[in-house]
Amino acid sequence: MIVRACALLLLPLLLACTVAQAAPSRGFDVLHYAVALVPDIAAKRVQGQQTLRFRAGQPLPTLTLDVGELEVTAVMQGNRVLAFEQGDQQLRIRLPTPLKRGAVAELRILYQGAPTFGLEFDPARDEVYTIFSTRQWMPSVDAPDERATLDLSVTLPPALLATGTGRALPTRTLADGRHEHRWRLDTPMPGYVYGFAAGRYQQATQQHGAVQLRFLSVDRTPAQLRSVFARTGDMLDFFAARAGLPYRGDYQQALVASTIGQEMAGVSLMSEAYGQDVLADPSQTALMAHEAAHQWWGNRVTCASWQHFWLNEGFANFMTAAYLQQAQGEAAYQSQVQRWRTRWEAVRAKGADHALVYANWDSPSGDDRTVVYQKGAYVLHLLRSELGEEVFWHGIGDYTRANDGRSVVTADFQRAMEKAAGRSLQPFFAQWVYAAAAAAR
Ligand SMILES: [Zn+2]
Repeated sequence: MIVRACALLLLPLLLACTVAQAAPSRGFDVLHYAVALVPDIAAKRVQGQQTLRFRAGQPLPTLTLDVGELEVTAVMQGNRVLAFEQGDQQLRIRLPTPLKRGAVAELRILYQGAPTFGLEFDPARDEVYTIFSTRQWMPSVDAPDERATLDLSVTLPPALLATGTGRALPTRTLADGRHEHRWRLDTPMPGYVYGFAAGRYQQATQQHGAVQLRFLSVDRTPAQLRSVFARTGDMLDFFAARAGLPYRGDYQQALVASTIGQEMAGVSLMSEAYGQDVLADPSQTALMAHEAAHQWWGNRVTCASWQHFWLNEGFANFMTAAYLQQAQGEAAYQSQVQRWRTRWEAVRAKGADHALVYANWDSPSGDDRTVVYQKGAYVLHLLRSELGEEVFWHGIGDYTRANDGRSVVTADFQRAMEKAAGRSLQPFFAQWVYAAAAAAR
């Protein structure tokens, strides 16, 4: 499950990589989104309004946002109605007067839609939840190097509970009895880690040091949820120690109708079926560890473009194995390493191996994903063997702390590891990261 976690679901997002790679020509920087959503679960529709604050990075006559299949009905600046056009899953807004470089402006966008992916509706469970492709439920810049703060509100029938990215603000009860759930994400984060889940959930909460844990599910009782997520606090402690950065905020995990695992800022979504697997076999914690590891590697330290996606996914897989090594013993770690190596060698045997830093992510194949997820983790294991425990983990901590809240490329990681090692690692990176490896070790 780890193998496929995120990758398949990211496919629609990855298809947008040409947009991501065109980042320098975007011409503006989003500072803040304030989004108010009203989902209609039975009708599988959503209505939204958004206020977008952005800064022009160059003289800016138009603003282009990713908008998926949403239908934008109006764009306003103050009371002024702006002209816009939609096409190719983008929204192009004509600004009344071009913005000067450095100028900050605010626009309001009204929209509606019936997303077929990115926002999942399950009327039988009274459930709605996001899956990665943020553009499908809010106009946004769907690129990993665009970080912004977020105010998110979701208005729902009163019987539903909800979890979302950011710090929960008090829920408002509207005149008609519906509840407006609200969250504020104070730290700028990339759009693909925004999201929420809402449903007729049961819940359990638990305090772990300074972190409040919350578990949600339609199918599981609070006691079962505590059992499924019994290791969550340990995982956060382990990753925090390896990162040298304490976990920030509260952490919530929800079991939703169907997903193969998704990390959002402060929230992970997994499937009800996975929860059942863990109840049956409590050692099956790898997927939840993978998503928890992303809170540091992926969410706080984010690949600047999908070319460097192994810095998210190879890291999350490797850190999962490192956690299992501590929690379950050396054999659990070695079993993960062997699995990565077997998967990657199968790809290599058919001539499909390639560099970890891989530009052509327009349409990633299963083999491409094996390279990023499994070979990426395997290469971190090799680097650990090459450098030894002390130097390796020192370098990992330095890299993570130095890049907290930043978008990174592989050179940032190499630099940190070389500093920890006190020598050039160019031969290692040339062989294992920037080229298809010539020979297995
Ligand atoms: Zn992942």
